[in-house]
Amino acid sequence: MVIQMPSFSTSSGGAGAGALHETDTTILQKQTEKECQPYFMDLTTLSSQEQHDLVRIGLLPEPLPPNENNETGSREDYDQEQCNNPDKTVLEIQLLREQHREYLAQVWTRALRAPFVSLDSSRPWILYWCLQGYDLLYHNTDTTTKTKGWITPQDGRKMVTTLEDCWTGYWVTEEEIPQLVTDHCSTDDKEELFFQEHDDDEHRSATTTKTTTGLPRYYCGGFGGGPGQMAHAATTYAAVLALCILATDDEEETTEEEEENANEEDVDASYTQLSYPLRAQRVLHEIRLPLYRWMCSLQVYHPTPKTTKTDTDPEHQPELPQQPHKEEGAYRMQHDGEIDVRATYTIACCATLLGVLTKTKTTTTESPPKTNYTLLGRRAVMNFIISCQTYEGGFGGEPYAEAHGGYTFCGVAALTLLCPRHELQWTGLHDNTENTTTDDNNEEDDVVFRLDIAALTGWLTRRQMRYEGGFSGRTNKLVDGCYSFWQGGATAIVSSCYADFYGGGENNEENENDDNNNTDNDNHDPWLRRYYQQQQQHKQHDADDNTGMDRTIDMPFPLLYNVRMLERYILLCAQEPTGGLRDKPSKSRDFYHTNYNLCGLSIAQHYSSSSSSSQNDTNTVATDTVDNSGDTSSGRSAGIDETFGDQQQTKVEATHPVYNIRIDRVAKILAMDW
Ligand SMILES: [Zn+2]
Repeated sequence: MVIQMPSFSTSSGGAGAGALHETDTTILQKQTEKECQPYFMDLTTLSSQEQHDLVRIGLLPEPLPPNENNETGSREDYDQEQCNNPDKTVLEIQLLREQHREYLAQVWTRALRAPFVSLDSSRPWILYWCLQGYDLLYHNTDTTTKTKGWITPQDGRKMVTTLEDCWTGYWVTEEEIPQLVTDHCSTDDKEELFFQEHDDDEHRSATTTKTTTGLPRYYCGGFGGGPGQMAHAATTYAAVLALCILATDDEEETTEEEEENANEEDVDASYTQLSYPLRAQRVLHEIRLPLYRWMCSLQVYHPTPKTTKTDTDPEHQPELPQQPHKEEGAYRMQHDGEIDVRATYTIACCATLLGVLTKTKTTTTESPPKTNYTLLGRRAVMNFIISCQTYEGGFGGEPYAEAHGGYTFCGVAALTLLCPRHELQWTGLHDNTENTTTDDNNEEDDVVFRLDIAALTGWLTRRQMRYEGGFSGRTNKLVDGCYSFWQGGATAIVSSCYADFYGGGENNEENENDDNNNTDNDNHDPWLRRYYQQQQQHKQHDADDNTGMDRTIDMPFPLLYNVRMLERYILLCAQEPTGGLRDKPSKSRDFYHTNYNLCGLSIAQHYSSSSSSSQNDTNTVATDTVDNSGDTSSGRSAGIDETFGDQQQTKVEATHPVYNIRIDRVAKILAMDW
C-alpha cells in the first residue's frame, strides 16, 4: 500500500483529515513531526529571555559588543534592537562544539560506566566513532573560536594498544588455504600477496612461519570486538579506520614528559619508544598481509563448473550457460557468518587504504586503463553488489532484502572502490541497453555492471523527510540523525556520478596534477582530486589566513539533497545541549549518533556547490532528473545548496564520503609506501 505522506500542519493539528486511513506508520510519523516542530520555530519571535537562554546553552552566539549602532550597549537595548531588526547573523544556530568534544573524549579520558558492558564487543567501533567525531570537530581554521586541545600522547598510545589487543590472528597450513586462492595460483592471476613472506612483528612475539615439519604456514587475522574475540569484518573496519586516524596524526600535543622520549623519526626504535602515530603505522604495516589473507578467506567462492563437449548422450539436453552461484563473490562478515554487502564495503575500504586491493597502483597503457585487482576485487564481487539493488532503487543487505540506508551506502561506496567508473553501466536515465555487449572470452568478464542510477537517486532523495529535513533509513520509516551520513554519504557519491555522466567529472584532464603523491586511484576520486587542487592552490597563494579555503574550489556537481534542510535538522533537532547528538529529539545521545550526525554535517558543508556555481548546466540537468523521479523535490531547485546556521562557527572538517575519515588523512594513508 502506498500512502501519500502529509506534511505537518500546525493549523489542523493533523494531516489530511479524512483523506487517510491511519496506520501505525502514519501515527508515528505525525508524532515525530510534532516532536520536531518546536525546534523549527522562528527564533526571532522568541522573547528576549528565551533568546538569552539559548545564548546561555550555546546554541546562539553571545550578543555582539556595543558599537556605534548600539551605543549604550545595555542588554535591554540590544534585545530591543534585535526585536526591531532581527539580524540573521545573530540568530544563527551554533554547533555546540566544545560540549560534543567533551562528550566524545570521555571514552579515552575516563572509565566508561557499567552499562557500557553491553558494548564490550564493540570496542573498535566506540573508538572509531569517538575519534572520527572528535576529529571532525577539530576545526582549526575557525579563527574566532579556535579549538584547542587534541588527544594526549598517552591517550593516543592507549588507544593503539586497545585496538591491537582486539587483533585475532591464526595460522593456516597449505591445505587450509582457501580454494579461491589455490585456484588462482597457477594462472596469471597468481596471488602473490597471499604467499608473500610476512615480517612478523617482534613486539607481538609471533615466532616462525614454518611448522615443525618444515612446511610453510601463513599468518592470517582480523580485528574482533574485544580481546580474544573472533575476527569480524565490521570491527576490523572500525579498527583500521581508527588506526588510520591515529597513524596520520600530526596534531599530537607533546607534554614535557613526552618530549624526553621524543624519538619519532627513528622508525627502528623499539616499539615502546614510538609515538602513537608511528605505533599505529607499524600495526597497520604488520597486519596488512595477514588481513589480506583473512579477507580472502571470507569471500564466497563457488567456481562455475566447466562445460564439457565430450558428452555424446543423445538424450542430453543442449547445455545452458552456467549461471554463477547467487552468492558468488559475496563476503561473509566472519567465518561461518552471514553474507551481506556490509562485508563487501568494509573489506574494500580496508583493502584500499592498506594498498592490497589492486595488484599495481599504475595502470597499463590500455585505453580505457584497466585496473588490475587482486582476488578481493574480482568481477564476481561487483556482480554481487549490483545484485543487492532492489526494485525500489536502494540496496538491501543481500539480494531480495529490503532497501536500507546503511546497506545502500555500503553498496554504493563498495562499487566506488571496486568498479572503475567507465565499467559501470548507468541505466534508467535513458535507454542505453544496446551498449551492454561484453567480451565473452573471459568467464568473469561477461558480467555487466548495470546499476539503475535513476532509481537509486530517486530512492535516496525520497529518504529526505519533507518536514523534518533529516533522512529516514527505509521507506515509511522515521527520520533519524545517523542517516545524515548513510543516506547523505551515498547521495554524495551518486551525485558525483552525475558529473561523470553529464561532464565535469573525471575526464577533465586539466584536473590531473602531478605535484602530489596522488596515485591513479586518487585521480578517479573526485573528492581527493579537489583536495589536491586545494592544497596546490593554497600552496600557490601561501595564505597565512586559510579561513574559507575549503570553499575555493567547488565540487563539479551539486549534492542532490536539500543541504539547508539537513543542516537544520542536525543543528536543531539532533544536538543535545549537554553535548552529543542523537537520532531524534525523543531519543538519547550516543557515540554512534554523535559521529554519524557530524559526518553527515561534514558532507553537507563540504561537498555542496556554492551558490555561484549552482546555476550552471550540470546542476540544472541533474536537478531536473531528481525532480522527475521523486516526490520531495518541490522548491528544491532554488537554493539546493543553501546552508543553515552560522557558516563559520558550525564548520566541521571534511570527511571523505567513501572511507569516512578526514580527507587529508585518506590522502596521507593512500600515499604511504607500505
Ligand atoms: Zn540511527
